[in-house]
Amino acid sequence: MVQFVGVDGVRKLVAAQGVEAFLTGLIPYVEADYARWERFDKVARPASHTPFGVIELMPASDAELYAFKFVNGHPFNPARGFQTVTAFGALATVHNGYPVLVSEMTLLTAFRTAATSAMAAKYLARPDSVVMAMIGAGSQAEFQALGIRQTTGVNRLRVYDTDARAMDKVRRNLEPFGFDVILADSAAQAMSGADIITTCTADKANATVLTADMVSAGMHLNAIGGDCPGKTELDPAILDRADVFVEFTPQTRIEGEIQQKPDDFPVTELWQVVAGRAAGRSSAAQVTVFDSVGFAIEDFSVLRYVYDVVQGTGIARDIDLVAAPDDPKDLFSLLPVPAPVG
Ligand code: NAD
Repeated sequence: MVQFVGVDGVRKLVAAQGVEAFLTGLIPYVEADYARWERFDKVARPASHTPFGVIELMPASDAELYAFKFVNGHPFNPARGFQTVTAFGALATVHNGYPVLVSEMTLLTAFRTAATSAMAAKYLARPDSVVMAMIGAGSQAEFQALGIRQTTGVNRLRVYDTDARAMDKVRRNLEPFGFDVILADSAAQAMSGADIITTCTADKANATVLTADMVSAGMHLNAIGGDCPGKTELDPAILDRADVFVEFTPQTRIEGEIQQKPDDFPVTELWQVVAGRAAGRSSAAQVTVFDSVGFAIEDFSVLRYVYDVVQGTGIARDIDLVAAPDDPKDLFSLLPVPAPVG
């Protein structure tokens, strides 16, 4: 049987541990998979673009396990009562190719994206950081703030969104976790004096959510909302004065902020920093940008984590997803036999 963890299952799993403990457990899974990045089969995700948004398939395998995620990105969805991003995915064993877990991944995408930003901030932000700014207060925002606090200890949060209700929602959701939340009137106000900035806006455009004059020496930026061709958040001049870190370069050149730059624009893959093969932050004045688009290994990590932590909880349900006849050559035996003729 294949195990199934739906939305209610993930909620129960998180409730059993607590949101922060769930993230604490997840971050080392992502970090461990980044550290052994070279062992994975990797491919830039195939994407189906329409005027509505994008649907993507994200596979990764380490030769023992194989994972994929189906995910959409529809920036105009909230205005129509739907979410911008939803997802589901599966984990399979490579030795026989059978799936072992099918899971909702809308919540898990928010968790794994937060865990990845948290890991990036750990390696790239200044250790004396005290203020973070969140530009975009939609579905990802609270997860991002909680993740970054885990690895940096930063508790002071400035929030800016073009939608005042979204900002109020972030304050309402995060104050019970002890965050000191200040709502800003503009992105520039939120950025002023911030050390770690996350852009998590959704717009199907080459938007300029941040301009170069808002960026000061020593800042670290996690730019997570620019993740499709024609969908970016940063003034390209910011990239010129920063050191840019990416997930999987062939995918990020198509989808990330660096799509605004020539194909030889210098970048460092974040796994190299995690594995000790490349430098992360090298000076207090350096500006660092994690140009995040989301990569399949992060989905692999969170599915691997859920599969491990759900065992023995009774939360996963068995589903009969894989046809399993007694004789593996007699698939036909599973079908009803017609009544004898005559
Ligand atoms: P969402 O639609 O729930 O929230 C986006 C928010 O951005 C909205 O509240 C909107 O009002 C705000 N916004 C739009 N333009 C803005 C601007 N110019 N200034 C300030 N606020 C602005 O979306 P979400 O689920 O929170 O996702 C946010 C972004 O992150 C999306 O673009 C999504 O595709 C991307 N994303 C990336 C990853 C990754 O791995 N890098 C993972 C998940 C989502």
